[in-house]
Amino acid sequence: MKPTPKPLKPLDDALADLLAQAVPLPGADTVTTFDADGRVLAQDCISALQVPPQDNSSMDGYAVRSADVTAPGAELPVSQRIAAGSAGEPLLSGTAARIFTGAPVPAGADAVLMQEDCEALNAAPGASSGEGGTARVRINAVPHPGQWIRRAGEDVTRGAVVLAAGTRLSPAELGLAASIGLHQLQVARRPKVALFSTGDELVMPGDVPPEQMRPGAIYNSNRFFLRAMLLRLGCEVTDFGIVPDRRDATIDALRQASNAHDLILTSGGVSVGEEDHIKPGVESLGRLDLWQIAMKPGKPFAYGQILREGGTAHFMGLPGNPVSSFLTFALLVRPFVLRLQGVRDVAPKSIAATADFTWARADKRREFLRVRRREQGGLELFGNQSSGVLTSAAWGDGVVDNPAGRTIAPGDTVQYIAFSDLLS
Ligand code: AMP
Ligand code: MG
Repeated sequence: MKPTPKPLKPLDDALADLLAQAVPLPGADTVTTFDADGRVLAQDCISALQVPPQDNSSMDGYAVRSADVTAPGAELPVSQRIAAGSAGEPLLSGTAARIFTGAPVPAGADAVLMQEDCEALNAAPGASSGEGGTARVRINAVPHPGQWIRRAGEDVTRGAVVLAAGTRLSPAELGLAASIGLHQLQVARRPKVALFSTGDELVMPGDVPPEQMRPGAIYNSNRFFLRAMLLRLGCEVTDFGIVPDRRDATIDALRQASNAHDLILTSGGVSVGEEDHIKPGVESLGRLDLWQIAMKPGKPFAYGQILREGGTAHFMGLPGNPVSSFLTFALLVRPFVLRLQGVRDVAPKSIAATADFTWARADKRREFLRVRRREQGGLELFGNQSSGVLTSAAWGDGVVDNPAGRTIAPGDTVQYIAFSDLLS
C-alpha cells in the first residue's frame, strides 16, 4: 500500500516554526566600528550628545541678524570670520560675520546669506584690509530668520537610541554610530556553521577537468553559493566537503559537524529515496522534521536538532537541485541565521511591480519565478524555470512571489523580491 503523502506545509508556517527555534545565540563580540559592517548590534547605541552639537551654517557666506537686513543692498561691517572647527564671538548688532559651511553660527545671528547673494567690499583706504578687518559686505537679498542654518540636534538628540539592538549594520549605520562618538560596538557573535554537500555524483571544480569528468558526474555548484551566502550573513563557515551517499558516512559527518557549530547546513539527500541518508542520519543523532514545503522550486526541506555534549546543534537540510537550494536558503535559512544574531525583522520585502510576461501554468504551489527588471519598469521572465537551471538565478535580479493557482498576464501587478534583499 502506498503511504499517503504528507500535506505540503505553507512556506509562511515553515518560516514561523523555524523562527520559533532560532533563539539568539548567547555572547557578543566587541569590534571597532570600522569592522562592524554586516554585523548585528547586541546593544542599543545611545547618544551622549546632540548632532549637530551647535547650530551651524550650511553655506559659505555671511551670518547676520535678519532684523539688520530689511531691504536688498544693506551694507554691514564684517566683524569676525568663523571657519569650520572654530567658535566665533557673539555677533555685534549691525555687523555680519564671514562664515563657512559647518562653522557654528554665532550667538545673536539668526540667518546666513550665501556668498552668491553678497558682495565683499574693499576696506576703506587706510583701514586694515581683508576679511575680519574693517571690510564691509553688501547684502543683495533679504534673509528670513533661520535660513541656511542647520539646527543643533536636528539629526540626533541627546539620550536618543540612535540604533537599536538587533539592527544589522550597513555603511550608513556605521557612519551614524561614529557621528555619536562610538569607535567600538558590541555585536552578536558570528554563528558557526558547518556546511556539507551530499551526493556521489558531485565533483569539486579543480579536482577533475571538464573533459575528464566520468559519466554521471557533475560539479558541486551548491557549495559555492551556500558558502558565499553564509559569509554575507556574517557566519563563520567550516566546510566539511562532499559526503558520500552512505548512511555511516552521513552519520559520521553529522556527528563531527555538530561539535563546535551552531548550525549544520547540508544540500541534497533530503528526500526519502534509497540514496537519501540525511533523514535517518539526523534521526539517529537527534530529531528531524522533514517538511514538504508548498513552494516551487524547493519542496523538500528538513529542520532538526542534533544532540551533542552540552547542548544541541541546529540542522537544516536543503534540496539538492541548485535553484531549490538557492531559494530555500534565501527564504528560510537566511531569516533563521539573522534571527540567531538577534535581528528582529527578518522577512524579505516584496514590492508591487508590473509583469511584462505571461505565466499560463498556474501551479498548486506558491512559486518563485526568476525575473529581472527592465529599464522601462516592468519585469521580464527567464525562459526556463526548471529547478536545475541555475542560469535563471544569475540572469535574474529577483523573483516574483506568485501565489498558488495564479496565472499572470502582461500588465498584471505582481509581488517582486529583489535578490539584493534576499542575498545580503
Ligand atoms: P538530491 O536532493 O540529492 O536528490 O539531488 C537533487 C538533484 O540536485 C540531483 O540532480 C543532484 O545531482 C543535484 N545536486 C545535488 N547536490 C548538488 C550540488 N551540491 N551541486 C549541484 N547539483 C547538486
Ligand atoms: Mg543526492
